[in-house]
Amino acid sequence: MNRYTLVGPFSQILPMTALPLKGALSDEELPIIDDGGLLLSGNSIHSIGPYKDLLSSPEADTATKVELEGKHVAMPGIVDAHTHICFAGSRARDYAMRNAGKSYLDIAREGGGIWDTVTRTRKATEEELVKGIIKRAKRHLKNGTTTIEVKSGYGLSVEHEMKMMKAIAKANTQTSQDLIPTCLAAHIPPKDWQTEVMDYLNRIVDDLLVDVKKQGLSNRVDIFIEEGAFSSGEAIAYLSRVAEMGFDITVHADQFSTGGSEIAVKFGALSADHLEASTEKEIELLAASDVIATALPGASLGLGCPFTPARRLLDAGGALAIASDHNPGSAPMGDLLTQAAILGAFEKLSNAEVLAGITYRAAAALNLSDRGRLESGNLADLAVFHTDNYNEILYNQGDLKPCMVWKSGQLVYDKHNNLSK
Ligand SMILES: [Zn+2]
Repeated sequence: MNRYTLVGPFSQILPMTALPLKGALSDEELPIIDDGGLLLSGNSIHSIGPYKDLLSSPEADTATKVELEGKHVAMPGIVDAHTHICFAGSRARDYAMRNAGKSYLDIAREGGGIWDTVTRTRKATEEELVKGIIKRAKRHLKNGTTTIEVKSGYGLSVEHEMKMMKAIAKANTQTSQDLIPTCLAAHIPPKDWQTEVMDYLNRIVDDLLVDVKKQGLSNRVDIFIEEGAFSSGEAIAYLSRVAEMGFDITVHADQFSTGGSEIAVKFGALSADHLEASTEKEIELLAASDVIATALPGASLGLGCPFTPARRLLDAGGALAIASDHNPGSAPMGDLLTQAAILGAFEKLSNAEVLAGITYRAAAALNLSDRGRLESGNLADLAVFHTDNYNEILYNQGDLKPCMVWKSGQLVYDKHNNLSK
């Protein structure tokens, strides 16, 4: 078997290299390789540059050649750094009720809300959860997403959170994407927990996280800090123990009220996600830190709420990632490319800022340095679009889907040949 694969020529390659992790970006800063090619070796990129140069390189002699006809633009495979795609059931009824003016409490009283998803997820078998994750991951593949973070958080007991973590691990062996698992046992305090909230969180540390670590099921822990979820005090006590165990931390922060992002900064979290309610104070705090600020436009679209102040975060010098938050309650769409394009229009983001937010800045939110940029040594994860101008990708607001997706050097989705792995 040949060691090398040469793919090209592309009208444009957008490598997303040599760009800063933090702060505003102009489109003029975006490096573009015209008439480019990629030489892949195994699961990674060997070299990238003008197609003609690669074609005359010594490696090209023995390389398998995937020669493209017509217009094509390649960018790094999309990284979705925040999802809840491990769940059972649908919340279509909630969505209709909410849009018809029913309150959160009305919906909960009629058996809807997050507890409905918890009940259905608890009833589901591990295998049923695996199937659901695979089905949703396949949808995301067609949108060019090659790395997906997946949270637990609808089990809300040691037993059912463990079932979710195992389902995510199993699904990861059956999807072409990389699934990055995160334990969100601290999503909301379980309704059926009889004693203090802190007892639940301590139980999670002692009986769940110890095993999650031992079995290598995840090195990431998330908590939802909000009225009705966990208080700042509870979060500090929980995260102190979590940090001591060596987990990476991420936080659902400032969605409806502030407080969460301050804790994310205090604990050196990888990311603070949501931030719709962040004020100047939180924006300054995040921008001065190494915490990636992750906007979730899918949740704003699902709830009819304001968007994360992405423009102000970037102008203050912050690092902005954009993720789908795909979940059955507030963000059922899950199409990150569409959502990122819409956020760009509302928040006045440059195409460079939007694309950075779903590639290398999103990879940084997951502490992954081997993807999000097309450069030598990185994973060969590519989203390829049938156009000759990268501006068309966001201009089409998600309607221009990739015609090819490569994951770790393998062509896993090919619209031309109806291939979908
Ligand atoms: Zn979320």
